[in-house]
Amino acid sequence: MQPFVYNGLPSRVVFGRGTLSRLSEELAHLGCSRALVLATPQQQQQAQDVLQQLGDKGVGVYANAAMHTPVEITDDAMQVVKELDVDCTIAIGGGSTIGLGKAIALRTGLAQIAIPTTYAGSEMTPILGETRDGEKTTQRTLDVLPETVIYDVDLTLTLPAGMSGTSGINAIAHAVEALYARDGNPVIALMAEEGIAALARSLPVIANDLSNVDARADALYGAWLCGACLGSVGMSLHHKLCHTLGGSFNLPHAETHTIVLPYAVAYNAPAAPQAMMRIQRALGCDDAATGLYDLGRAVGAPSALSELGFGINDVDKATAMATRNPYWNPRDITVDGIARLLSNAQAGLRPQ
Ligand code: NAD
Repeated sequence: MQPFVYNGLPSRVVFGRGTLSRLSEELAHLGCSRALVLATPQQQQQAQDVLQQLGDKGVGVYANAAMHTPVEITDDAMQVVKELDVDCTIAIGGGSTIGLGKAIALRTGLAQIAIPTTYAGSEMTPILGETRDGEKTTQRTLDVLPETVIYDVDLTLTLPAGMSGTSGINAIAHAVEALYARDGNPVIALMAEEGIAALARSLPVIANDLSNVDARADALYGAWLCGACLGSVGMSLHHKLCHTLGGSFNLPHAETHTIVLPYAVAYNAPAAPQAMMRIQRALGCDDAATGLYDLGRAVGAPSALSELGFGINDVDKATAMATRNPYWNPRDITVDGIARLLSNAQAGLRPQ
C-alpha cells in the first residue's frame, strides 16, 4: 500500500458541443455582469463574437495575449480592466490567453471563465508562469485557478494539424509526469492513464481528418484529464527541461514538449517501472519512450530540437541551466545524463 494525500481543486467544468452558448448562464452562476473578453491577436474576431453574444454583460475585448505571459502585456491589460470597471475575465484561446486571465486574477482577485481552444491544459491548473525581461518565473496559487472552464469541442475544430498534434502531446506530458510524481495518488493516476489513452487514440485520427468531431471530443476530454494532473501534482525532469528550453532559448512551447518527452521518459524509465507500465498500457505498446516517439511521427510533429533552431552547441548551456536547480525527479539528475538526453533530442534519434 502506498500512502497518499489527494487535494481536489475547486473548479467547475462544463464539457460538450456548443457549450459556448451557455456562457451567459455561467456568468450569472458566478454573479458577474461586466466581463472583459481576452484573446490573442489571432483570435480577436472570435473574442468579438463572444462579446456580442454577452450583450450588456460584456464590456470589452483585450486581444493582445502572448506566449509566456509577459508582464508588460499584463500591465497594459490591467489599464483596460480598471478603465472598464471589469468584474470578471473570459479567456478564449490556448495557454497564452488563459495565462493572461490568471495574471489579471492574481493582481485583482477577479473571477475567471476559461474557454480553452487548444489541449495545453492551463485552465485546470493553479499555476502561472510569467516573463519579465526574458526571465520566466512560475508560481502555484489557488488565486489563479479559473472558477469555471467551458470546454466546447466545436471550438477546437479550427486548431491546425501541427498545433493539434503538438498541443495534444504537450497534454500527454503532464499525465506522464503525474504517473511518477513524488506526490502522486491513485485518483490522479487513473486520470493520467485515461488522458494519455484518449489523446493517443484521437490525435493520429485528427492529423488526417481535422474535422472529425468524435476524435476532437476524445482529444479535448483527454486534455482536460491531463490538465487536471498538471494542476494536482508536481512535475519533474521533462517539465524542467521544457521550461529551460522555452524560457531561455525561446523554443516554441508545444513543439518542444513533443520532441523532449520520449527522451525524458527514456531517462526516467529505469526508476519508474509502474509508471512505464501504465503509459505503455495507455499507448498500447511495449516501450513507453519509443511509443511516444512514434506518436509524434504519427501526428507529423517535428522530431528534433535542431528543427526548432536549437544547435548542438547549445547543449552544454541548456544542461547547466536544467541541472542547476532541478525539480524532484524519480531518477538522479546527472550532468552527463542530461547532456546525452539533450544531444539525442537535438538530433531527433529514436530513443533506445
Ligand atoms: P497558445 O495559447 O500560444 O496558442 C498558439 C496559437 O494558436 C495562438 O495564436 C492562438 O491564438 C492560436 N489558437 C489557439 N486555439 C486555436 C484554435 N482552436 N484555432 C485556431 N488557432 C488557435 O498555445 P498553447 O500551447 O495553448 O499555450 C502555450 C502557453 O501556455 C505557454 O506560454 C505555456 O507556458 C502556457 N501553459 C501554461 C500552463 C499552466 O498550467 N500555467 C499549462 C500549459 C501551458
